[in-house]
Amino acid sequence: MSDSCIFCKILARQIPSSIIAENDYVFVLKDIAPKAPIHYLIIPKKHISDIASLTQDDKLIAASILYMAQHLSKTVDGAQSFKLINNNGTSVGQSVFHIHFHFLAGSRLTAFSV
Ligand code: 5GP
Ligand code: ZN
Repeated sequence: MSDSCIFCKILARQIPSSIIAENDYVFVLKDIAPKAPIHYLIIPKKHISDIASLTQDDKLIAASILYMAQHLSKTVDGAQSFKLINNNGTSVGQSVFHIHFHFLAGSRLTAFSV
């Protein structure tokens, strides 16, 4: 856990937010500023700032992100087709430095930016 990280604080219930799904390694929030009809964030429970910081020990976490996306696509109405987007680094738009994947569904979503 990082004391200054918004996602770590949400996971620790220090900030109220509804976690809509979780497994041993990741949890899911509705994005506070949705860019699509369905916009979730898939977030590792371990504080890892970005993909560049992943280590060999994090393989199960990395895989769990994809399996959580699969779970959401099977269980959320209208999310059978989806995009999974990660901003890695400030210059491409990363604003929260705790890895998260944007799970987007419900429209054609032709733009790349989220
Ligand atoms: P990034 O720009 O780092 O790829 O994405 C960060 C995302 O986190 C943004 O889409 C932003 O709306 C979302 N976000 C920031 N703060 C909060 C928060 O407190 N709660 C939730 N649910 N989402 C947040
Ligand atoms: Zn964190």
